[in-house]
Amino acid sequence: MLHTTCIASAAGTRTAFNNSEQAISEVVRLGAGTHQSSASQRNSTVLSPSTYWDQYQDITKSNAHLSVAERLWAAWYAWMQNDVLATGIMSFAIHELFYFGRCLPWIFIDSFGFFKKYKIQSSKVPSLREQWDCAKFVLLSHFTVELPQIWLFHPMAQFCGLSTSIPFPSLWTMAYQIAIFFVMEDTWHYFCHRAFHWGPLYKTIHKVHHQYSAPFGLAAEYASPIEVMILGFGTVSSPILWCALTGDLHILTMYIWIVLRLFQAIDAHSGYEFPWSLHHFLPFWAGADHHDLHHEKFIGNYASSFRWWDYLLDTEYSPDAMKRRREKKVKADKTQ
Ligand SMILES: [Zn+2]
Ligand SMILES: [Zn+2]
Repeated sequence: MLHTTCIASAAGTRTAFNNSEQAISEVVRLGAGTHQSSASQRNSTVLSPSTYWDQYQDITKSNAHLSVAERLWAAWYAWMQNDVLATGIMSFAIHELFYFGRCLPWIFIDSFGFFKKYKIQSSKVPSLREQWDCAKFVLLSHFTVELPQIWLFHPMAQFCGLSTSIPFPSLWTMAYQIAIFFVMEDTWHYFCHRAFHWGPLYKTIHKVHHQYSAPFGLAAEYASPIEVMILGFGTVSSPILWCALTGDLHILTMYIWIVLRLFQAIDAHSGYEFPWSLHHFLPFWAGADHHDLHHEKFIGNYASSFRWWDYLLDTEYSPDAMKRRREKKVKADKTQ
């Protein structure tokens, strides 16, 4: 059963509908519709706006209290009349747009040699050819491995109580839920990634991702299909698990989570460490130098977003961590 909850009211009161078809016909019926009269003239009982923008205008007429974003949102789900398809297309489009969009500045920075003094491994700048080959591989992976995962998200989350309703949840609700998803995903990523460095798994799965010892933005999702599926599971299942436990998840929160997680992964692979990088202000944030060292040395720094798992389980690889380990060893030798 489709489950778009659309808000529409001729008199300004809100009405919840349980599926897209009901929503779309109610929106048209309640709206002072030119479409309604034209449909009547055609002697038709189906009062459905023909285009997305017709749908948007109909919703706007009877829902002045909604923000533009909320109207665009409601029009999309009402017009599509298939929530799984609406979410699938939207998620995939967001993923492609923000992945490649976020990579573009890094491609320019590498190509034109901007910020050279902030490049972590300054002698290893990726060529345009390397970046193009990487982009083709990533694109293939998006269509073959990630697309089915994105498609499955909506029915699974819907089963757990996912909401597509308007108005949107508050900024605070979205912020704290996304913070929880970051913590959940980071934990999943740490243990899976650490396991991937076990000999047989490294050779058969994770070696692909380590092709670039000096990473760059596009290389964030350059990995074997099995790795993409396993690590992607952490990104998709964190909100699903949250939704199953609390019954409180809006799909807009999921979209923003996907975008922020993409930004985190791409920036961690950028190869640049700036004085204004986030981990200088949030010391537990992993950032680019954390993951760059992992690609350079092939050991330690397994977490994605935060530094605490590597710190707690003594897998941190940094000058400070090495120093701490040396001091600990000297101390232990003295006591023997
Ligand atoms: Zn690795
Ligand atoms: Zn990596």
